[in-house]
Amino acid sequence: MSEDGLAIRNRFIAEIQAEFPNFRIIKKEQSAFAKAIDLGLKLLTLGGQREFMSRYFTVIGDTLYVPKGFDELDPINVVITLRHERVHLRQRRRLTLPGMTLLYLLLPFPLGMAYFRARLEWEAYTETLRATLELRGRDAVMAAALRERVVSQFTSAAYGWMWPFPKSVNRWYDEALQEVLSSGDTPLAR
Ligand SMILES: [Zn+2]
Repeated sequence: MSEDGLAIRNRFIAEIQAEFPNFRIIKKEQSAFAKAIDLGLKLLTLGGQREFMSRYFTVIGDTLYVPKGFDELDPINVVITLRHERVHLRQRRRLTLPGMTLLYLLLPFPLGMAYFRARLEWEAYTETLRATLELRGRDAVMAAALRERVVSQFTSAAYGWMWPFPKSVNRWYDEALQEVLSSGDTPLAR
């Protein structure tokens, strides 16, 4: 792990803390709350979502729950993920916690066609693409593997099959990619 990467990661965490003073990071394996959510997700998805503890970052309120081995993760990948999570923090500020919870978890359905969860995640995954372009470059953001991974988040058990229509998710992806690439070409845009 390069020192530079770690410095960039820590600087970004400080930036989030400046914007959200109550922001804190908790390791999922040390949190009874995270373990309870893990169990609930396994039950709800019939075992389809088994990576909540080991792979996923989760923001609830001002707290970011991080997966096992957080400190050993590639710090630039962590920054890309944190850019996504910061979008959720801003959504919660915009919508309030009850509003965000209602839209994210329940409407119109908790599983299968969770349209508002899909829209909220879509905004966050667009930021994932933007961060990937800025930190990893054009080839990385255009990689087929990235598309496959992001599209599957929408169509699989990962988020409770929130929008299980690959065609429409791929269309969103095309639009987001185009938006990100074209703003990346503008020298003044950030
Ligand atoms: Zn997300």
